[in-house]
Amino acid sequence: MTTDPKKRVVLKLSGEALAGEVGYGIDTDIMDAISQQIEEIVQLGTQVSVVVGGGNIWRGADASKQGMDRASADYMGMLATVMNALALQDMLEKYGVDTRVQTAIEMQQVAEPYIRRRAIRHLEKGRVVIFAGGTGNPFFSTDTTAALRAAEIEASVILLAKGKVDAVYDSDPLQNEDALKFSHLKYLDVLNNNLGVMDSTAASLCMDNSIPIIVFGLSQRGNIKKAVLGEKIGTLID
Ligand code: UDP
Repeated sequence: MTTDPKKRVVLKLSGEALAGEVGYGIDTDIMDAISQQIEEIVQLGTQVSVVVGGGNIWRGADASKQGMDRASADYMGMLATVMNALALQDMLEKYGVDTRVQTAIEMQQVAEPYIRRRAIRHLEKGRVVIFAGGTGNPFFSTDTTAALRAAEIEASVILLAKGKVDAVYDSDPLQNEDALKFSHLKYLDVLNNNLGVMDSTAASLCMDNSIPIIVFGLSQRGNIKKAVLGEKIGTLID
């Protein structure tokens, strides 16, 4: 079964997905491959927004475990997402895709501030909008940002792209070769069984606003397009 690609989506790219094998920083080959795939779905007529993570550069919770003040560490994490956003924008523009970065923390020399109506207008004009800076608040995640922005812009789906795994499993498939892969889950399965796919704030926001989530791997090229076209890949959560 295929779905109409002419819809509005939020693509969530975790920092880890941008880092490649080394596990940190930005791998330009990966960024290139992702940008090509985004260009493909823009060509299909899909309105594409992207929420970028920052875990390839900085994670607030980890720094806080080392003794740093959590709020300050989280603000650093939010700034890390802006670096990823600018790198993605640069690569997308090399593919001729009109792109705007909007940040939840104002830094107008670098990007537009997040303005919901303006973001929607960009999407309607076929521009890719990259939401950077998370929600702008410490103690949140970029998964929660994806859920929040999806609700705000009335996106029909969140495409949760992962770097290392290709779906949701009952245990870590990288540690346990017998890990069971789920093709379909309910929001409550995610919330009750601690499946680690996204934090509970993000999952409950999606549940409360009936936003379906497709979890899939980025390592296979063409997966973003498949997800947009409604082909069965990864795990559907709804
Ligand atoms: N962050 C935050 N508020 C937000 C979004 C992100 O404080 O609304 C911080 C938090 O410190 C987090 C970091 O930014 O660790 C990077 O985001 P995240 O861990 O969600 O990135 P990902 O895991 O997707 O790479």
